[in-house]
Amino acid sequence: MPQLSQRITTLNGDGSDGWDVFYRAKAMVAAGEDVIELTIGEHDIGTDASILKAMYDSARGGHTGYAIVPGISALRDRVAERVTAQTGVATNRDNVLITPGGQAALFAAHMAVCAPGDTAAYIDPYYATYPGVVRSASALPRTVPTHAENGFLPERSALEAACKGAASLLINSPNNPTGAVYPRETLDTIAQVIMANDMWLISDEVYDTQVWDGAHISPRSLPGMADHTLVVGSMSKSHAMTGSRIGWLIGPPEAIACAIDLATNTTYGVPGYIQDAALFAMETAGLESEVAAPFLRRRDIVEKVLSTQSIVRSVPPQGAMYVMLDIRATGLSGEAFANALLDTHRIAVMPGESFGASAAGHVRVAMTVADDRFEDALYTICQFAAGLSQAA
Ligand code: PMP
Repeated sequence: MPQLSQRITTLNGDGSDGWDVFYRAKAMVAAGEDVIELTIGEHDIGTDASILKAMYDSARGGHTGYAIVPGISALRDRVAERVTAQTGVATNRDNVLITPGGQAALFAAHMAVCAPGDTAAYIDPYYATYPGVVRSASALPRTVPTHAENGFLPERSALEAACKGAASLLINSPNNPTGAVYPRETLDTIAQVIMANDMWLISDEVYDTQVWDGAHISPRSLPGMADHTLVVGSMSKSHAMTGSRIGWLIGPPEAIACAIDLATNTTYGVPGYIQDAALFAMETAGLESEVAAPFLRRRDIVEKVLSTQSIVRSVPPQGAMYVMLDIRATGLSGEAFANALLDTHRIAVMPGESFGASAAGHVRVAMTVADDRFEDALYTICQFAAGLSQAA
């Protein structure tokens, strides 16, 4: 076999990626074991039947051919309308590219603004695909460390250091994995650093409908930022449409035109019946809040359970569908804790280390199982940690 490209063979970097526990849990489930999976961000409800019907009706109605690459005009208009209403920034269809999920929008954004060899920064802890997305655009990853003690919010000095000479900074609020929702002051600082370096901000806002404390502010709406920001959005989390693969990229028309050229040569658009279903979903009141509601309830369960003990701590999640548990009192790494928890109690969580060095000594718990099962699992995790901390 001839050599594979270095770009593709080094996509995942080197060293352990911390996903072993995830794959071990999957193998146990496949072998018929009863594992409580609190690993990935998959809702425990499926896509709403009304959305599926819209998809079916569209496909039966003939929308199964090639769809226009930038996205059907009605959906681009609807997304633009939503963004205008949320941010106050005038947005129209030329600012919008419909993509197969937020993931494709993350890739398109980095391809659009990073030349090969450019530095692309992002905040640590980070969503697991970020380093690979940066590398797939032939850019060089650089992290901005944060600290649990500061709610995992990026600080000015770390931002300034990482952004020096970088082409882009990628942020994610509401945040996966930490649940942080960036307050106005943090976003103002980020905007100042972006402007001072005349660089791009890529704002991953796929959890913007799941905010429990405070409010979601899109940095594109800050003064001067519309020309420096690309926003990544998705129907995956807001409408439990993860498998439908539909999202978008928002930005200045010149940047979107380039991203459309990329789409023409890569994805060639998103199936028309999926876009019709997404349009239906966006126009149906109540669906977003229905999808978000279980996570708020479970966020409250986390608070209740953690308040009964003092070994496991957390930065209370303000948004998204995860909670980061600080298990440093056990003396174990996140990875060792997650493996031991899986072996002992058949509960699968993600090691913090798989989201970056700043999340060491933590595990990420996805709030994606039924409330009573979730509550039981949390009590078990706390008792397990208490036992370990006595031994430590
Ligand atoms: N960004 C973040 C922070 C995510 O958590 C995810 C999915 N888990 C994505 C982007 C990608 O989502 P999708 O491609 O399904 O829209």
